[in-house]
Amino acid sequence: MKNRVSILSMSVAAFGLYLLFTSGMLPGKGVAMSSSTPTCYCEYCGKKFASVRQLTSATCVRHPDGPNKGRHKLYEGTEKSEYTCKYCGKKFPSIQVMTGGQCVHHPKGKNKGHHSPAL
Ligand SMILES: [Zn+2]
Ligand SMILES: [Zn+2]
Repeated sequence: MKNRVSILSMSVAAFGLYLLFTSGMLPGKGVAMSSSTPTCYCEYCGKKFASVRQLTSATCVRHPDGPNKGRHKLYEGTEKSEYTCKYCGKKFPSIQVMTGGQCVHHPKGKNKGHHSPAL
């Protein structure tokens, strides 16, 4: 009997955590879940995804460790009309265009990596 109660209270607590977790994961900017427009960008390659789950489950051709050596990384900044490289300050119309170019002020060295969007 005692066991049964603790299992029940544990699952209630787990469900509560789950609710907290999922509501905390939702963007606070009113981005509708049902929206068909992809709103998640990869910080490395600028590719758009419909969800963070899709983004983080695929490998990235512009991963800093090498092509497809790791998964896409969520760009956590806001959507902008132009993006600024956080290393050199150069502006680009999209993350995709930005990360396609090599950065002269990259921390690993001149042209040792791609531009990276500031948040
Ligand atoms: Zn990517
Ligand atoms: Zn740059």
